[in-house]
Amino acid sequence: MRFAIISDIHSNLEALVKTFEIIDQSGVDRIVCLGDVVGYGANPNECVDLVRNRCSNVLLGNHDAAAIDLSASEFFNYHARAAAIWTNRELTEKNKGYLRGLAMSALEEKIFFVHASPCEPADWEYIIDEEEAQGAFGCFSEEICFVGHTHVPACFSENGQASAVEKGQRYLVNVGSVGQPRDGNPKLSFGIFDSGTWDYQNVRSAYDTAAAAGKIREAGLPVQLAERLFRGV
Ligand code: ZN
Repeated sequence: MRFAIISDIHSNLEALVKTFEIIDQSGVDRIVCLGDVVGYGANPNECVDLVRNRCSNVLLGNHDAAAIDLSASEFFNYHARAAAIWTNRELTEKNKGYLRGLAMSALEEKIFFVHASPCEPADWEYIIDEEEAQGAFGCFSEEICFVGHTHVPACFSENGQASAVEKGQRYLVNVGSVGQPRDGNPKLSFGIFDSGTWDYQNVRSAYDTAAAAGKIREAGLPVQLAERLFRGV
């Protein structure tokens, strides 16, 4: 079974449409979304509709939770909170209801999926370095776990940072962010994993960043949220 694993779309329709174009050319059986469909960008409803129609499994992210319940944005920085308030106003009742019903984690084909961390998913912890990754291996029993949340693609084995995924070891893989990459590379990021061969690929692609940024400015969202898309931060 070939999985496409997408995460952290953040209402960036241009990046999401490009991602599905690549997925459609890649012979993928199932698409799993690890959450943060909304927040930051200008097309929350369009992104929720597309994800709902295309993905077999969609998980809740912290920005989705904040957009449907603003009290969950209490610890957000100023721009993230401004975007959560704007998104809460924009989202249709139907889409709010859909986001409200999303699960925190999923298990398919012995693969564990979660937005932030397999340890207490609702605490939205960030797994950034090897030490944090090692701590997370005790929180799932499967051989491989896919996460998002940091917007930085990464791959950890139980021995530390890994350059590839190979059968016989356990892995924690971060697929990066479709709509707001933060690793200094503005190209969209997602993962394709074959559960039969264990072939894993982190896919990066340019998309119409200028269009996505222009919509953020037009919507009256903080301009910094438009500018960061060009720098991948
Ligand atoms: Zn996110």
